[in-house]
This record gives sequence, structure tokens and C-alpha cells, in this order.
Amino acid sequence: MTGTKFCKSCGTTGSPSASFCRECGAALTEEPSVDQSASNAKEQVNGGIVLYQQGDYPGALSKFEKAIEADPTLAAAWSDKGCALGRLGKRDAALEAFNKALEIDRDNREAREGKDLCLRMVNSSQEAS
Ligand SMILES: [Zn+2]
Repeated sequence: MTGTKFCKSCGTTGSPSASFCRECGAALTEEPSVDQSASNAKEQVNGGIVLYQQGDYPGALSKFEKAIEADPTLAAAWSDKGCALGRLGKRDAALEAFNKALEIDRDNREAREGKDLCLRMVNSSQEAS
């Protein structure tokens, strides 16, 4: 896996020993494996958002969990997971997910708003605490 090179110009992959693209002659760069998993995570998040908007919250949740598996540092995946959990009535787990999102990115607006919403729901169902 490591050492594989690819062409930024046309996307052709080359052997580790190659310096130039055999298709277009552009200089080859090392394949960014980290970026690949990050883009996969974003794909999962986008797929989850589509399901979420269709009202398929369990389906959306599993997409967000796959996104987190691919990139545990993606704050958006955590806050979206929190939203899906909130819709499923799992407020404690939702709060945990929002907290995780804020841990990664404390300026994440979605996570802040989601957390506030969760806290309000918890407070309104437990008046005397
Ligand atoms: Zn090329």
C-alpha cells in the first residue's frame, strides 16, 4: 500500500519507483492514504444526511457510525450522529456524541445547538432534579 504513487492530473496510479505519469507525463506524488479515508468518511456522512432527510434515522445513524469508523476526528460525523440519536429518543447517547464533536471542534455550531436542544429536552422531562 505505502509507496504507491498517483497522478494529480489524471488520477492514474503508478509504481513506487515511477517518477512521472505514464499517461500524461506529470510528476507523480505519493498516494495520500489519510485523505482517502477522510473522503470516505465524508461520503458516509453525506449518505447519512440523505437518509436522515428521508426520515430513515436508524439508516442515517449507521452511516454516521461508519463515517466515525473511517475518520474518528470528523466533528460533523459526531454531531450528525447526535442528531440521529436524538431523533431516535436516545438523548444520553446523543449528548455523548455532541460532546465528542465539541471535543474535536469546540466551535462546531451544529453540535452546540444539538446539545442545547438535548439538554432542553432532558430538562423538560425531568422538572425536579
Ligand atoms: Zn497523469
